[in-house]
Amino acid sequence: MHNTEYYLQNNGDLYWGEFSHFARTGLVKHGFSTRRGGVSTAPFASLNLGLHTGDAVTDVQENRRRYCAAFGLDAAKAVTAEQIHGDSIAVVTARECGRGALLYETAVPQTDALITNIPDLPLLIFYADCVPVYFLDPEHKAIGVAHAGWKGTVAQIAQKTLKLLTKQFGTRPQNCLVAVGPSIGPCCYEIDQFVHDKIHAAFTQPEKLLQKTATGKWKLDLWAANRQQLEGIGVPAQNIVVAGVCTSCNTHMYFSYRAEHGKTGRMGALMSIT
Ligand SMILES: [Zn+2]
Repeated sequence: MHNTEYYLQNNGDLYWGEFSHFARTGLVKHGFSTRRGGVSTAPFASLNLGLHTGDAVTDVQENRRRYCAAFGLDAAKAVTAEQIHGDSIAVVTARECGRGALLYETAVPQTDALITNIPDLPLLIFYADCVPVYFLDPEHKAIGVAHAGWKGTVAQIAQKTLKLLTKQFGTRPQNCLVAVGPSIGPCCYEIDQFVHDKIHAAFTQPEKLLQKTATGKWKLDLWAANRQQLEGIGVPAQNIVVAGVCTSCNTHMYFSYRAEHGKTGRMGALMSIT
């Protein structure tokens, strides 16, 4: 399942993942953090990047500083979003520099995806099981990061992020590179009738995304769901790299909201144009 185009990097004891198809372009710094290399204590041990988790704010600030510093980036410049499981996307300009970097209250409100074409302006979105979708348009040097849990996926946030990249920067789907980071996999993501019905209503081929369990529930494949949406608007299959790493199966390396019963930290999808 684990895709070899997703690999771990480290700076001392701080670990993050990268995607080779992004790295090859030389156009961006990017990463998906792990739980290794921070200062937070249990249940946030140790590289918790989420300020809205109940963790000590000063620990999260130090974790963000360390993570961004591993890329030579200033955490105080990072742009973050409120993340409400919606489908609103913000176009990030120099004006948004540092929003939510130190305090959750100043994050871009009611937003679940960020796009920009400004160099050295890091986008930073947080996850613990929800699906990180990264976009890189090498032609127009534009990027985006989206937060796609089941609600965002049903609301087609990945597709909408790409459409906004097209509107703002001229991104052509056939040239866009996409990465899907570690998140809860089809092995572990059990859903009930309510979510099942939402998926059925939102997808033309829902049977490819759902697998019935012995207990009469379903397992949902959010990776395939996001892939289906993006291929549906013209992103070539080979441009989309899915890490294939399940956070719930790998709590030694990643935070998992499901596996850790809601008391856990957040990983960060970081992306910045060089
Ligand atoms: Zn799993």
